[in-house]
Amino acid sequence: YQCWSLKDQPELRLSDWFNATTDSTHMDMRVTNWSAPIVWTDTYNESVLADYYTKYPVTVGLIVFAVGRYLLYYLGRFLESANRFFMVNQKVIFYIMLDDFSHMPWIDLDRHRTLKIFKIKQARRWQDVSMIRMKVISEHIEEHIRREVDYVFCMDVDQLFKAEYGLETLGDSVAQLHTYWYKESPGKVPYERNESSEAYIAAGEGDFYYHAAVFGGTATQVLRITKECAKAIMKDKKNNVEAVWHDESHLNKYFFLHRPSKILSPEYCWDLSQNKTPDIKTVKLVWNFKNYELLRNH
Ligand code: UDP
Ligand code: MN
Repeated sequence: YQCWSLKDQPELRLSDWFNATTDSTHMDMRVTNWSAPIVWTDTYNESVLADYYTKYPVTVGLIVFAVGRYLLYYLGRFLESANRFFMVNQKVIFYIMLDDFSHMPWIDLDRHRTLKIFKIKQARRWQDVSMIRMKVISEHIEEHIRREVDYVFCMDVDQLFKAEYGLETLGDSVAQLHTYWYKESPGKVPYERNESSEAYIAAGEGDFYYHAAVFGGTATQVLRITKECAKAIMKDKKNNVEAVWHDESHLNKYFFLHRPSKILSPEYCWDLSQNKTPDIKTVKLVWNFKNYELLRNH
């Protein structure tokens, strides 16, 4: 995997920007047992991060799929909110994968932001649209994205940014804690339990349940993640099995085998219909309203 490598530069040390001291609301949830930071609102020092990335600028990609009705309902508002809150003052390239150019919404972008639009084929089942993302993302990173950005995020389109989503989220490989399961022990989360699936995780194993609506990292790492997941999904297809939560099950298996170097708190992908507990301080990204009937029955 040869990607555009990050420049020769002093490393930003964790202790310079991250405050791992726990308070009563977070208990022991700020650092994993493999020493990866779990980023919450009050764990990072924004000015240290801003100074560092002013000296050593990076370009960040954001890949989003909007196929079928998701293009009509979600893409415009997702992009408007991303333009406003995602990596403010950094160079950003939005990679938009859609099935119909004529429905691309008009978006006024700020300086330092640009769009690249690609056409992909509509799949018959929504599960397939969701899963095919892994393959398409890996192909695009390999073909061009790795020469265009340093870091890249992949996100669901049915979401809205609500507050600054910034440099504190950048890392080698970044996983998102799932709003529903972040307080649950690994034995109780919905990993794939069918042994014949590539996504299988044995009872009692696993660290966290990650949400596939957000993942990221360096272009090199995201290429690895998506390539491995795509391979596993294809293998399952050949064997006529489908993991219970589709691409998300495979992503969880990947991050179980190759632990992420940074984890984002549920503030980075929150469901507003959940009651906010004191650990949720500033919500940066929320799930958008979902009408399953309209979106999936067509
Ligand atoms: N998606 C799409 N069209 C579809 C199905 C899925 O564009 O018909 C994309 C879209 O980016 C969506 C993502 O795949 O956010 C994942 O699907 P979905 O959000 O429905 O999954 P869920 O969040 O319900 O697990
Ligand atoms: Mn979604």
